[in-house]
Amino acid sequence: MNRHPGTSGLIFNEPNLWEKSRRGRCAISLPKADVDRVELDQNLTEEAPELPQLSELDVVRHYTRLSQWNFGVDSGMYPLGSCTMKYNPKTNEVQAARQGFAAAHPLAGDEYSQGALKLMYNLEQYLGSITGFDAVTLQPAAGAHGELAGMLMIHAFHAKKGKQRSKIIIPDTAHGTNPASASLCGYESINIKSGKNGILEPEDVAAVMDEDTAGIMVTNPNTLGLFESNIKEIADIVHSKGGLVYGDGANMNAIMGIVKPGEIGIDVLHLNLHKTFSTPHGGGGPGSGPVAVGKILEPFLPVPRIVKELDSYRFVVNRPDTIGRIHTFYGHFSIMVRAYSYILSMGAKGLTDASKLAVLNANYIKESLKGTLNLPYDMPCMHECVFNDAIQKENHITTMDMAKRLLDYGFHPPTVYFPLVIEGSFMVEPTETESKEDIDQFIDAVKAIAKEAKQDPETLKNAPFLTKVTRLDEVAAARKPCLRG
Ligand SMILES: *Cc1c(COP(=O)(O)O)cnc(C)c1O
Repeated sequence: MNRHPGTSGLIFNEPNLWEKSRRGRCAISLPKADVDRVELDQNLTEEAPELPQLSELDVVRHYTRLSQWNFGVDSGMYPLGSCTMKYNPKTNEVQAARQGFAAAHPLAGDEYSQGALKLMYNLEQYLGSITGFDAVTLQPAAGAHGELAGMLMIHAFHAKKGKQRSKIIIPDTAHGTNPASASLCGYESINIKSGKNGILEPEDVAAVMDEDTAGIMVTNPNTLGLFESNIKEIADIVHSKGGLVYGDGANMNAIMGIVKPGEIGIDVLHLNLHKTFSTPHGGGGPGSGPVAVGKILEPFLPVPRIVKELDSYRFVVNRPDTIGRIHTFYGHFSIMVRAYSYILSMGAKGLTDASKLAVLNANYIKESLKGTLNLPYDMPCMHECVFNDAIQKENHITTMDMAKRLLDYGFHPPTVYFPLVIEGSFMVEPTETESKEDIDQFIDAVKAIAKEAKQDPETLKNAPFLTKVTRLDEVAAARKPCLRG
């Protein structure tokens, strides 16, 4: 079982479709026309597009081969920290593809969309109960969009009180999108450093919190994979000066069924359905970043809101304090169907177990690789653990060299050089869906690479060797991208 999944051979070269094209080749046989032939308008025939001419087999092989150049969680372990690249059960895809959901049209009107409205209403209730909040909107299209919605609500809250504030506190362990969202609302970010244990110290918050500060944005668990255990005290400090606490809940995968953010002083929180709740993440598909709020922010939620009256559901837009509409219709519906199906099929115990396993797996990796890689914060982690290259630096081997070499061993590399608080960080998030055997293979691969770093650093610097393309010039790739064929 100790053989690594990475191998070589049988990875095909594949030209683009125009190069494969042969005049007259065709993938379909149309029946003989049973209507009279008519000449097309001259304008339509003059410049026919140069479309490739291919057989069915040409097309099937083309896309199959291209798909094999790709790597996804269905092909192997994808331990990309801060991204929760877990396996998403296929049943949730099947539910989202059901005709009634996939073909639902948002202009059909409330009366003809009762099933969809009920699903969204119930999903809001479930997410509210998982997070410990009173109300949820499903509208935002991504985590960062949820942050923006949340910050707009904080902004509207202060405006309603009659005095706008100008600053927001953001710790160095926050996700990079946090300061961007705050700044879009016109707030100046006040950065504070986390303490020596990698978490926030209440006195550091107290030192900067004042009555011109709208609140604080806390990522919890933070980007070091650590739980902000002083959160309650920090929330009290911020609330005592009239501020609000924004919780970045993209890392909810670590705490489902264990911690309810709404009960530990957080006022508004976003979730990433495309991390925690079974929508494949990465690859640029649509996302969904629901926002949950407590009573005081509920009036400011975006419209429309879904309300239930007896047994029917309808959208309501007339709410005087709302921040308005932040997405067309009601957000990305098919992602909501996946989340709904996931929550129902897992149940409360299943979700809690998922979080426990995610944390267990990360701690297992942390303990197993400690000493092989340097571990800047040696304490129990949540769903991810952050190492760096301090040990390998002695042989001039960097995090990037190790990440590249992992490709040869058949693993997607972990997140590298993020979070920024640690130099050369190597951030591993195995998720709950990897088995012990697969995690052991990953651990073995990292240990083998650490050995290579000692014994033959010169060679390692040129990794990867078995991939379709080897070490790329990343600066040239970013500055002079080749976007054709
Ligand atoms: C992924 C992530 C985000 C941003 O989510 P997007 O959907 O990519 O916009 C924000 N915060 C944290 C902690 C994250 O992990």
